[in-house]
Amino acid sequence: MTMPARKVHLLGNASYRDEAEAMLAAPGDAALVERGVLRSLVLRCPDGCGETLVVNFDPRAGKAWRLYQRRGAVSVYPSVWLDGGCESHFIIWKDRILWCDVFEEGNEEPDYDPAIEPLVLDALPADRFVDPATIAQELDLIVWDAGKALRRLVARGDAREGVGSLKGTFGRIPQDV
Ligand SMILES: [Zn+2]
Repeated sequence: MTMPARKVHLLGNASYRDEAEAMLAAPGDAALVERGVLRSLVLRCPDGCGETLVVNFDPRAGKAWRLYQRRGAVSVYPSVWLDGGCESHFIIWKDRILWCDVFEEGNEEPDYDPAIEPLVLDALPADRFVDPATIAQELDLIVWDAGKALRRLVARGDAREGVGSLKGTFGRIPQDV
C-alpha cells in the first residue's frame, strides 16, 4: 500500500467543480469552488485511492462543513468522512491531515499556541457543559485548536469533561465556597 498524504495542498480557486477537479494531480491536492459564495473543497482523496472528495460548505446544498483559512493554512470542521467508496476518515487542521483510523500512527499535529488556554478556560461556564465548537465560535478559534486546549485543561485538572451523553463537552470546575 502506498503512503497516504499527510498534508492538504490548496492549489487555487475555481468557479465550477470540473475546473477545480482538473487542477488536482496528487493525493491531498485540493481546490476551492467559489461562485458568489464559497461552495466546496474538491480534494483528491489523500489515501491515494484516486477518488475525488467534495466537502460542501454551502448549507443550502445539504450537510455543510466549516472552512477556516488562517495564515494561508486550511482547516475544516468537523472531520471528513467518505461514506461508501474507500471510507477515508480524517481531520484537516492547518493543512495537516490527521487520520482517524488506518493511518493514525503517522499523524503529526500542527503548531499549537497554548496561550489560548487561559482564554478558553475563561469562556467555560461552571453550571453546564459546552462543546468545543461553541467555545471556538465565541473566541474565534479553529474548533480543533479549542478542542486541544480543552483536553489539555482537563488533563491538568483545570476543567472537566462530561460523562455519558455529555462526553466531548466541557465545563469549568465548580469552586466550593
Ligand atoms: Zn480514498
